[in-house]
Amino acid sequence: MGFMKYFSLLIKPTSASCNLNCRYCFYKDEAKKRSVFNHGIMEYSMVETIMDRILNYFNEQTMITIAFQGGEPTLAGLEWFNHFFDYVNTHKKDFHHLQYTLQTNGYTINDQWIELFQKHNILIGLSIDGYGQIHDRYRKSNDDRPTFDVILTNYHRLVQAKVNVNILTVVTHDLAKHAARLYDFYRQEKMDYIQLIPCLPPLDETSVYAFKPQDYPLFFGKLWTCYIDGLNHGYRPYINLFDQWMAATNGIGAAQCGANGYCAMQYVSEADGSVYPCDFYCLDHYRIGSWSNHDPATLMMDDTTTAFLNETTLPTLCTHCPYVQMCHGQCKRQRVCFMDMTNGYCGIRAFLNEHGSTIHQMGQHFLKQTY
Ligand code: SF4
Ligand code: SF4
Repeated sequence: MGFMKYFSLLIKPTSASCNLNCRYCFYKDEAKKRSVFNHGIMEYSMVETIMDRILNYFNEQTMITIAFQGGEPTLAGLEWFNHFFDYVNTHKKDFHHLQYTLQTNGYTINDQWIELFQKHNILIGLSIDGYGQIHDRYRKSNDDRPTFDVILTNYHRLVQAKVNVNILTVVTHDLAKHAARLYDFYRQEKMDYIQLIPCLPPLDETSVYAFKPQDYPLFFGKLWTCYIDGLNHGYRPYINLFDQWMAATNGIGAAQCGANGYCAMQYVSEADGSVYPCDFYCLDHYRIGSWSNHDPATLMMDDTTTAFLNETTLPTLCTHCPYVQMCHGQCKRQRVCFMDMTNGYCGIRAFLNEHGSTIHQMGQHFLKQTY
């Protein structure tokens, strides 16, 4: 196929609207800190503006990745998504290749949604925080009901329908104490693609839910031991963080934002067409502009974007760390969960001190299998 360009953006069709009321939701916190909390549902005309801007901009072989996120994106309704795909499929050129992901809480997935996911080959990121007791503690419906049973049933329906599903688990301070139980749950449910996301505290605040630096060696250390045990018994799930460290300890850069030590432009598109550089920073002073009057290049070159990308600096704690060349000090927004700057403690460093060499060895083993 020759040279291919890559472009990705994140669309929030329903702004901060959600049918669940998760206690630790970082997006609700962010949205509350800007002048407009909720922009409602993205209008069809805005969908068309955004997609015209992108499709007209790329005139050669381009892979365009679109991630739908929220709030809860499915609240935009099936008709919204049908319009979106109809519009893109009638306006795209042969050299435009599109791939889609959709992050959902899975609460209202039914046969029609499953059909849509199959038809457009959408990779689903489904939020399940592990076993019921812990999931239901934080992920409640708007009327305060537990959601676990519904969501686990929907997970199995998706798998049965051969939809590609990644499990997204938010690791709270609470869950960090129960790595082995979490692992047993994944194994029992035969979950193969798992993304673990440390629970963030609200911006510039602390919270009891948030993942703490000491949780890193506690949680990931135990989970790693379970992972090795699982491998010996034929269970080899993809776990984002382990694959990332197995690659990094063998000198391979990561695909995940922040793991290479710098920010990347995410083109986060709010329902009103506003664009922000990163999902963690959809705040007024990071608003770059609107798709109504910008194309990808002018958004990228905007002063707000440059300022955001240049904001990242390596913490002093990292400068003399033996792991800095593979860790790069991580994502600036997530650092608060990994490092206790006041006491000079880093949870990642403690984890790598203990498990770095087995992670490296296991990484080599997998690399040999792959190549
Ligand atoms: S703040 Fe983190 S997630 Fe956002 S662009 Fe920077 S590294 Fe990526
Ligand atoms: S392990 Fe910790 S101290 Fe070392 S580079 Fe990474 S974040 Fe910084």
